Amino acid sequence: MKILVLNCGSSSIKYQLIDMQTENLIAEGIVEKIGEDIALFTYKSTRFTKKKREMVIDNHEQGLQLILEALIDPVTGVLSGLDEIDAVGHRLVHAGEHYSDAVVVTDDVIRVLQECVSLAPLHNPANLIGIEAVKVNMPNCPQCGVFDTAFHQTMPAMAYLYPLPLEFYTNHKIRRYGFHGTSHKYVSLKAADYLKRPVEELKMITCHLGNGASITAIKNGKSVDTSMGFTPLEGLMMGTRCGDIDPAIPIHLQQQLGFTVDEVNTILNKKSGMLGLSHISNDMREIEDEILIKNNPKAIMAMDVYCYRIKKYIGSYFAALNGLDVLVFTGGIGENMSMLREQVCREMEAIGIKLNLEENSKRIDGIQVLSAEDSKVIVLKIPTNEELMIALETESLLRQEK
Ligand code: ADP
Repeated sequence: MKILVLNCGSSSIKYQLIDMQTENLIAEGIVEKIGEDIALFTYKSTRFTKKKREMVIDNHEQGLQLILEALIDPVTGVLSGLDEIDAVGHRLVHAGEHYSDAVVVTDDVIRVLQECVSLAPLHNPANLIGIEAVKVNMPNCPQCGVFDTAFHQTMPAMAYLYPLPLEFYTNHKIRRYGFHGTSHKYVSLKAADYLKRPVEELKMITCHLGNGASITAIKNGKSVDTSMGFTPLEGLMMGTRCGDIDPAIPIHLQQQLGFTVDEVNTILNKKSGMLGLSHISNDMREIEDEILIKNNPKAIMAMDVYCYRIKKYIGSYFAALNGLDVLVFTGGIGENMSMLREQVCREMEAIGIKLNLEENSKRIDGIQVLSAEDSKVIVLKIPTNEELMIALETESLLRQEK
């Protein structure tokens, strides 16, 4: 079985074609800047290394058409025809409180996506356009989807309710939803599989640290709390997002300092976090270089804040879970930055976390045990693979349907 995984953004389509027998990637790429003067198509496959093309692409339908043509190209393609694609699996973003599992895309799912546009105004419309583009280009191909919010639907009310007047929840659905669900679910399953223990018996904390970052408490395989909230702005400090701050600060910025709503939005989402504090970059590789090569005090201070905040979340989720068996690091930063993992896990023996510093500093592909032998908590580095998770869930749905 071959599954095409699509991640449709407002002006981009990312794709991966996966062979489900081997779980190997056959082809992948991205169409960017759809609707702009010049769009960019970057792609590669098992038959060739990276190719780049620039052209005009007016809309997602055309973008998808381009991807499909590349997949069946007689010279460089990897498929003899589109009928070799058994299903499309979409990364979908916001389903409100509707779905806790992967879904076959039906009229109901489309209605839910539309209903939740106000909760994810940039992402849900792009998801809808992606679904339509598949309908036009591959009318007979089954479409499934996994919502970013789905895995966190198991959170109890005490974790998802904000202490605002209750009608904001009941009338306007303002609550914690959580994101990165597919990644947290994938690494938690991988961890259980690697340790050869049932996920239902484990207490885990999974740290997804990429450009966006979130941390999840998982009990018996279910998300019981997560750091991102009503939007992905809450929680950990991120590349350019502030994460948790006093909610009175945006009010102060507007009332006392004269910023507009749009300006405050840009400050909190695009100018804060690692970039804002360090004045260097949102890319941790640059921060790391500044610390290691130049001993730059701003980079050190920003890194201290970043790590301290992760540490505090781990402590609070330890309390929420009443213990901890496994701590997982994943995402571009969690997988690659040993210095950060060391700083986060330093002086955490009181809650049973002790790293093997030598193991932590090694750069090894795949899953890695980072904890010391006498650490009560097993600390793992697990490369995330959201596309594979979506493909696996799509495959499993199709098998159930048959
Ligand atoms: P996204 O959240 O967009 O999916 P990723 O999970 O791929 O992103 O994470 C991207 C971030 O990971 C980069 O911005 C960079 O800060 C960080 N990163 C990637 N490689 C390294 C590395 N070798 N060392 C430190 N940080 C890294």
